[in-house]
Amino acid sequence: MTHSTLDLAKNSAVVVGSGLVGSLWAIFLAKRGYDVHLFERRGDMRKAGYIGGRSINLAMSVRGWKAIEATGIQETIQKVALPMSGRMMHSVDGKLTYQAYGKSDEAIYSVSRGLLNLELLKLAGAFPNVTMYFDHRCSHINEAGNEIVFDIGTTGDTLTVNSEVIFAADGAFSAVRQSIQKTPRFNYQQEYLEHGYKELTILPNADGTHQLDVNALHIWPRNSFMMIALPNVDGSFTCTMFHPMDGPEGLDHLNTDQQILDFFHKYYPDILPLMPNLVEDFKKNPSSTLVTVRCSPWNYKNKVLLIGDAAHAIVPFYGQGMNAGFEDCTILNEMIDLYDGDWAKIFSEFNATRIQDGNAIATLALRNFVEMRDLVADPMFLLRKKIAADLHQKYPEQFLPVYSMISFSNTPYSIALSEEDAQNELFKQILAIPDIANQWNGAAVTEVFENWYAARII
Ligand code: FAD
Repeated sequence: MTHSTLDLAKNSAVVVGSGLVGSLWAIFLAKRGYDVHLFERRGDMRKAGYIGGRSINLAMSVRGWKAIEATGIQETIQKVALPMSGRMMHSVDGKLTYQAYGKSDEAIYSVSRGLLNLELLKLAGAFPNVTMYFDHRCSHINEAGNEIVFDIGTTGDTLTVNSEVIFAADGAFSAVRQSIQKTPRFNYQQEYLEHGYKELTILPNADGTHQLDVNALHIWPRNSFMMIALPNVDGSFTCTMFHPMDGPEGLDHLNTDQQILDFFHKYYPDILPLMPNLVEDFKKNPSSTLVTVRCSPWNYKNKVLLIGDAAHAIVPFYGQGMNAGFEDCTILNEMIDLYDGDWAKIFSEFNATRIQDGNAIATLALRNFVEMRDLVADPMFLLRKKIAADLHQKYPEQFLPVYSMISFSNTPYSIALSEEDAQNELFKQILAIPDIANQWNGAAVTEVFENWYAARII
């Protein structure tokens, strides 16, 4: 067993975790000329491929693209992204309802997490000033925050790295955060949903085309649970079931072939013909949990900074976990200019201003689960969406639907959360207008809206 030490020079930075956020942040730092040392507990996915070749799909929206564009790598990433301009809802009896996400030129983009990670890692690895260390698992940081210790594979060897700054992008169960958690006045909250998720696949048609509309995010809302499907560039769809883990129909209780088939016949009959491999996939693919993590501070002694899921793990129902992590990178990059590379100022300012946004998107994501699984099939909800789109068209400066604010703008999440509360109040009044289904774009709606708006700006 050997215990080595690495002392990094001044212009260096350690990034822990080569997931989406760690790889992207390594690219940002490398472009600025820092000597980046990127540590990952897993093997090198450029050689081994991403785990089992399987991956969840993510929706990338404006915040994600902004970060990608700032590093100049958008052309490479665009090749693995497919635009989805709206939601396609599937009812139990097979009826389809389409709802645009925003204006006709607005879309969110489906990307495979594994493929995206692979591309980012390749791009990071192409910089001569990025050194990557795979099979290096962070075990802890020291109390002063300037020393980080890694276990190397299963050899029993360790590496201790001394660094001026450490960026912890090691995900929802961050080892760096666990070290900091022991310090007094560190706030930490972890909340699991009773729902978990399981991946399934809709294979392409024989000619390689998609079996469902490729430009939509498909949703099968079933009140207390749901399934979604996002398109892949190879003609397949990755489906994710969000479903309670326990209970007679819970993910952990659908064990036999017959139980699985009966469940799908009952709730997702239109999916069955698209998934000849359903039973095999269902049994083979694990059921995973969904967690929200809120913590503070994210800055430890001006030497260690938590970013991405390590700082703010959220449930996936607004499609914002990665987008929020990428936005962390954009904001930090801007702060490097603003504070002339003074890490102490940057860490402290990021900590002071960004945590409220992490908490806000955590709340919004939890709320959106109810919307996706339950309300998208509700006629009043669809009416609300129609009125919201109409108001946005009539009053583009005064009214932006919250979904658009989150997915198609860079407005801070904390402002989007207050806006959601305000708009909920507005729609309580609008939907109470007599015969609103027919009067949805009439004078009464205009009057309620103008009064609501006037009261806000006073
Ligand atoms: P991770 O991706 O978790 O990466 C962490 C990295 O650190 C990993 O490579 C890990 O191996 C490494 N690591 C961990 N521990 C150590 C250690 N001790 N030492 C060294 N390395 C370590 N987001 C969206 O924006 N849009 C979506 O539509 C969306 N959909 C989602 C759907 C599902 C089902 C789930 C579960 C998540 C979804 N997300 C979505 C969230 C998104 O996947 C995460 O927010 C994103 O992956 C976070 O990136 P990260 O780099 O911070 O963490």
